[in-house]
Amino acid sequence: MTPWFPNGQVAQTRCAVVIGAGIAGASVARSLAERGFAVQVLERHAHPAQEASGNPAGIVLPVLSRTGNALSHLTQLGMRYAQQRMSALMQHDARVAWQPSGVLRLARNPRHAAQQEKIAAQANFPPDFARWVDAIEASALVGVPVEQPGWWFAGGGSLCPPALVNALLHHEGIRLRTGVDVQSLHREADAWVLADALGQVVARCETVVLANADAALNLLPDTYAQSLPLAAIRGQISLVRQTDGAQDWMRLRAVACREGYVIPARDGQVCFGASFTHHAQGREPSEAEHIGNIERLQAIFPQADSLDVEQLGGRVSYRCATSDRLPMLGPLHDAPSFYERFARLHLGGTHQRYEVADVLPGLWLNVGHGARGLVWAGLLGEALACMISGEVSPLPQDLIHALHPARFDYRQLRTAPKHRKEWVVGMDMG
Ligand SMILES: Cc1cc2nc3c(=O)[nH]c(=O)nc-3n(C[C@H](O)[C@H](O)[C@H](O)COP(=O)(O)OP(=O)(O)OC[C@H]3O[C@@H](n4cnc5c(N)ncnc54)[C@H](O)[C@@H]3O)c2cc1C
Repeated sequence: MTPWFPNGQVAQTRCAVVIGAGIAGASVARSLAERGFAVQVLERHAHPAQEASGNPAGIVLPVLSRTGNALSHLTQLGMRYAQQRMSALMQHDARVAWQPSGVLRLARNPRHAAQQEKIAAQANFPPDFARWVDAIEASALVGVPVEQPGWWFAGGGSLCPPALVNALLHHEGIRLRTGVDVQSLHREADAWVLADALGQVVARCETVVLANADAALNLLPDTYAQSLPLAAIRGQISLVRQTDGAQDWMRLRAVACREGYVIPARDGQVCFGASFTHHAQGREPSEAEHIGNIERLQAIFPQADSLDVEQLGGRVSYRCATSDRLPMLGPLHDAPSFYERFARLHLGGTHQRYEVADVLPGLWLNVGHGARGLVWAGLLGEALACMISGEVSPLPQDLIHALHPARFDYRQLRTAPKHRKEWVVGMDMG
């Protein structure tokens, strides 16, 4: 075992508490329940999926990279898992409304198009996964004229995130408890004790999963703010009603993206977006972000030229981003002892010199899903359930390490002290 990426403690009893009923919490709860765990999901709102997972529509598409990096690999595995999971859930609950329409991702400019075309020729992706198409074919696939060539992801599509969350939570092994705002967490004997703002104990369990996005940091000692670099990045979607006088682009048949995205109508509304606003607060949609969304839309469909901000609906929520754009999944390491044990890591030496890092036993993290939670939350829920129950993971070892919550502390300690920098959490698309 790599000493700085410990495995975590396998659950001794088949019960677990998950904090947060978004797509991350619902996915891991479902995967645990399917393994026979009795799972309590604690959610502060009156209903699940009220925050990032609450948009009426979202898209599932992969990230491509020339080198096949971790982000790209994870989205490809995540997509395959999501397609199967959603098709299975749709057999019982049509409200999940998974529409495997395909996703078109347009080139940003001629130079970008030339680069991508080269990648397409070299990479030789299976055509049912990713294929480079010219503007004429792209227009035919989406059903609306577009002016650039782009990638066609035949297996991509769109879904209704709150419906998916509700379908996942609908399992006899899951008890959803809403209106429970967990404010503290401490360990007593072999269990974690969770309490609300009044100090009332709301749950006690050996296994606890923090799936509450950046609010997870509020439940941990302050030192974890450096160890787990998370930030909330505001995003606003825009919604327009597909009325009788709708313009042609509103009848698109497949998801189309460039810097932003447009999703075919659901319940009579076309959804497009989304803004990225760092260091912002508030939940009210803003006119400036609607205007930004209209610009992103027009970069895809230039003919979408007579939209009035007044006619748009909108929704604001916050992506929980990490400094390397990958989620944090796995056991929570004991940060103070980690710093002591690996203090000399920057001086080199092999891993045999070190004892395995300590973990906070039974405490697991599933956060930082950024702009891709709908793509990979299902797979990651399954992977985490495997770690907790001691089963073989569906993730390859390199991805388990790439997602490990201890990776940021490991990277700091491997760097000479004078070159260490504070993490910067940013993001560029979603
Ligand atoms: C505008 C926008 C558009 C997006 N579009 C896409 C897209 O098209 N495709 C895609 O893949 N991804 C998209 N994303 C990203 C995706 O929505 C997120 O990655 C995903 O929803 C994150 O899920 P989550 O469960 O981690 O977080 P959340 O959905 O935020 O869930 C966390 C939950 O924890 C609860 N909670 C927090 N603290 C506590 C506490 N102390 N006690 C109890 N409960 C607590 C919260 O109330 C919340 O319900 C988009 C995000 C935004 C903002």
